[in-house]
Amino acid sequence: MINDTMFARGAESSKIREIFSYGLERKAQIGADKVFDYSLGNPSVPAPAAVRASIERSLELPSEELHGYTPAPGLPEARQAVADSLNRRFGTAYTAGDVFMTVGAAASVSMCIHALTNPGEEVIVIAPYFPEYAVWIEKAGATCVEVLADQQTFQVDPEAVAAAITPRTAAVIIDSPNNPTGAVYTRETLEALACVLRAANEGREQPIFLISDEPYREIVYGAEVPWVPSIYENTVVCYSYSKSLSLPGERVGWVLVPNTCPLASRIMPAVAGAARTLGFVCAPALFQRVVADCVDEPSDVAAYARNRDVLTRALSEYGYTYVEPDGAFYLWVKALEDDAEAFCERAKAYELLPVPSNSFGVPGWFRLGYCIDYDVIVNSLPAWKRLADEYRA
Ligand code: PLP
Repeated sequence: MINDTMFARGAESSKIREIFSYGLERKAQIGADKVFDYSLGNPSVPAPAAVRASIERSLELPSEELHGYTPAPGLPEARQAVADSLNRRFGTAYTAGDVFMTVGAAASVSMCIHALTNPGEEVIVIAPYFPEYAVWIEKAGATCVEVLADQQTFQVDPEAVAAAITPRTAAVIIDSPNNPTGAVYTRETLEALACVLRAANEGREQPIFLISDEPYREIVYGAEVPWVPSIYENTVVCYSYSKSLSLPGERVGWVLVPNTCPLASRIMPAVAGAARTLGFVCAPALFQRVVADCVDEPSDVAAYARNRDVLTRALSEYGYTYVEPDGAFYLWVKALEDDAEAFCERAKAYELLPVPSNSFGVPGWFRLGYCIDYDVIVNSLPAWKRLADEYRA
């Protein structure tokens, strides 16, 4: 029998994808330069030259090595390169055995959810949140519990998390630098969250796990991105090269189960089991080699900073209110009416394509992905002004 839940998830496309498809249609109708598509987090910054050089080197390998299966958790050299890079940056002592190569952060997070929860348990997410979390939590048979971020700073609100914890809470997912708000959780916030979790762990058979989803770790504008496992010991880290190396279509990332995590020896087999169960073993071999070669390549943050600056300066001049983004490449802006969906529909008349906040679990805001070309942003500014003028009128 066809699975009703799977049917429903496939039949309803994600709002972000729906807007992106509308944008493609509209571009075909009126010309690509006349549509201002802020919907997707698809980096416009090219992948570093080192990626191409690495691919060219790999192409010299014998076919079996180049295209063959790798071990289920990944190539030893890729896992070692990731561990070495983390050790250099965070003063840790991870080994290749702590790293499981994945098909991007989507796989990393869904594997961790499946590995760390049982049906009937609860997973806390911080709203607004990346919408796929709810889908993956549902698939694991767990319940997604939304906890609002602090509405001024968009940091995690540790007291609100404390109030949401029940005996069924298995894990909390955090995402910093944050999609969709651009907030970067401070050390102080994370320490307060760790205190809440440790207090809740008293008397429990197993601790509450923290799943730290970090595909935007490298994309920050000066803020510190603290290393979460050094603040809360029961943390697993999910990463991807989709954003940092502009490789979203290549599907490569990893899960780190730090060897400092008290239950690491049981968690890593569970992560491997989740990868096996979900069919996520053996990440693309070519791009595991790219990771081994390019693990320390810097991201081109300057391009995103330039986009952020031109966009925020103009929007603030036109009277929009937004969260000052410290990281990632999203701007979280207050809609000019209570109904964010209605606002985004109205924006379409100006060929502006933002994503309404309802998709991220909260009303009244919209998200702009400013990882697009600088010229598209500059050319869209008059439309943002006219839209604001229309509301004022
Ligand atoms: N987590 C967050 C917060 C994201 O924003 C995304 C993608 O946009 C993902 C996970 C999935 O990333 P990937 O493309 O590496 O699967």
